[in-house]
Amino acid sequence: MTSSDMNSNLNRLRSMALGSSSNQSDQQQPRASQETLNASLKLRRTPNEEHEPDHYEDLQLDFNPSLFRSLERFLPENLLSSTRIEKARAMSDLLLRYSPESERIRVQKHREYKQNILSSYQRLHEELYTLDPVSFFVPSFLDAVSNTSEENFKSIIVRAAPGIYTFDMFKPQFCQMLIAEVENMEKWFHYSKSSMMRPTTINKFGVVLDDFGLDGMLQKLLGDFISPISQVLFPEACGTGLDSHHGYAIEYGKYRDTDLGFHVDDSEVTLNVCLGNQFSGGELYFRGVRCDDHVNSEIKENYDYSQVPGQAVLHHGHHRHGARAITAGRLVNLVMWCRSSTFREAKSYQKDFSSWCGGCKLEKHNRQQVAIKATVEMLKKRGADKTHVEH
Ligand SMILES: [Zn+2]
Repeated sequence: MTSSDMNSNLNRLRSMALGSSSNQSDQQQPRASQETLNASLKLRRTPNEEHEPDHYEDLQLDFNPSLFRSLERFLPENLLSSTRIEKARAMSDLLLRYSPESERIRVQKHREYKQNILSSYQRLHEELYTLDPVSFFVPSFLDAVSNTSEENFKSIIVRAAPGIYTFDMFKPQFCQMLIAEVENMEKWFHYSKSSMMRPTTINKFGVVLDDFGLDGMLQKLLGDFISPISQVLFPEACGTGLDSHHGYAIEYGKYRDTDLGFHVDDSEVTLNVCLGNQFSGGELYFRGVRCDDHVNSEIKENYDYSQVPGQAVLHHGHHRHGARAITAGRLVNLVMWCRSSTFREAKSYQKDFSSWCGGCKLEKHNRQQVAIKATVEMLKKRGADKTHVEH
């Protein structure tokens, strides 16, 4: 959703909830009984400036978390004392109600899809669903992040190439449990005979972990670990912190995807952790960071990475990359696309991304060269004129 969509939604939402166009709200489709309550929800005409809104960054929501913070000041008094989840639910329903129809249908369908999974999927390893740093992480990672000094982060994080960082992250036992859970999810789909929503448009296999109830665990992983690390390593894109994610597992091997074409991610930062198993091939290759306008520009940067089980790679989402074909065995990766609503908002007003895009950087450099050359020419000409006059 773009910022202008969001503004128009907010405006529409306010005018409708204030009751100025009540006819329109009667035309809305019938809602479930729980939501009938929200249909009568009237927003305040003016925001309650004294009210300190909650934070919503740690919840996986259908809309930008900062929108919820702004909107909370318009909620009626009786809702302000509700729990954060109840407020989020009420605001989410309101926003959804006045979203463009296509968006509303998409979100509604996805909610039903997820609800269907959550109501019948039997978890294999319940302990995966709550983040437990001591049992998930290797001690070196835990040590480095429990003391939040920048030096500590950098002591375990290897800068493999410009903008690509690697570090040991998960214990082998965690990796094995997650692989087994992913297999269990695939099996559930097979027997339920439902069709699965795949993680990305280019993956034919793989599982969206968020849809199976791992969204809370992954959102905590983002907020407590990946966001603070990214603020240090990628200040240009993550300086204000990361607040939402898309978490999934991909599988490479015979009868699975064999490789992954060259692409950029819909993320500010991507965390990609190899979970195992026995495999050869499947190297990741990186070809430079580019903004949307320069995504197809020429390649000068080359970096290849051989995957190691338990080891994480953290890179800018717009770092062009792909995975080479796996030549033997099977490979499972945990991938989390991490996003920053603030960065996305700011990005829509910007054209020059030379702080991180190789293409913008080159154009800026070329523009400067042209300007320098012009100045030199001008000075030369002036010098010549001056000499001429003095003679
Ligand atoms: Zn660019």
